Amino acid sequence: MIRLRTRPPIPESLKSKKVEDTKKQIENMIKAGINLKSADFEPHWHDIKEYLWQWHDGKCCYCERKRDKREFDVEHFRPKAGISDENGHPGYWWLAYEWENLFLACKSCNQEIKKTQFPLLGGSKRAFTGEDDLKLEKPVLINPVDEDPEKFIGFVWQEVNENLVIAVGLDKEGRGHKTAFELTAINKEEVKEERTGLIDRFQTIVGTIILAKYTNNQELKNEFLNKIKEDTRANKRFAGFRRAYFRAAGFGEYVSKD
Ligand SMILES: [Zn+2]
Repeated sequence: MIRLRTRPPIPESLKSKKVEDTKKQIENMIKAGINLKSADFEPHWHDIKEYLWQWHDGKCCYCERKRDKREFDVEHFRPKAGISDENGHPGYWWLAYEWENLFLACKSCNQEIKKTQFPLLGGSKRAFTGEDDLKLEKPVLINPVDEDPEKFIGFVWQEVNENLVIAVGLDKEGRGHKTAFELTAINKEEVKEERTGLIDRFQTIVGTIILAKYTNNQELKNEFLNKIKEDTRANKRFAGFRRAYFRAAGFGEYVSKD
């Protein structure tokens, strides 16, 4: 998981009359005391998904797998219909079509693991209506725009769990750990395997640089140091792990900053 670039402007389709009508409809249902289900929210997601997909470089905002856009969902950071961590909470229905609450996530992260989870840190105050201040909430889940996920989630890959690359939490409050193990598919078996598949290439890059150093082959060394920069760009799948790997190998200064 890495930080996303600044959120682009609100897509036009989110300002459409159709969306406004749905918002009113949802509000009326809440006033009538109806318990909302996910299916009550009209899926005005087609254009938004495309827009999110471009912004996310075709990656899930949590596990960083690259997929075709059909394999992604529009992800509500704060779930729109019910919160499993909070009995009686109707969900953040008033944020269902708010641009700031929308990301793109794979179906494993969104539908299999996160679902309607949205735990808060102890002592923070849950918003129940649009009038409540969201700033009083301290979500456990890392927000990939407002925060730098690389400060919360690191990776281990040597002689652990048959050498699979596992994401681990880095912060004392345990937010990185919970984000990686409980709230997203970052540590799902098939994601760990896909991430681990990159290691051979990284070992070749590092090995070639070391060899070039010993043989005084400056040209080869520069070529492969440049590969580190290319390989760790934000648009690459698993960029968070890529960066962690090269930093741990002593090449932090060559890791891409974009
Ligand atoms: Zn995912």
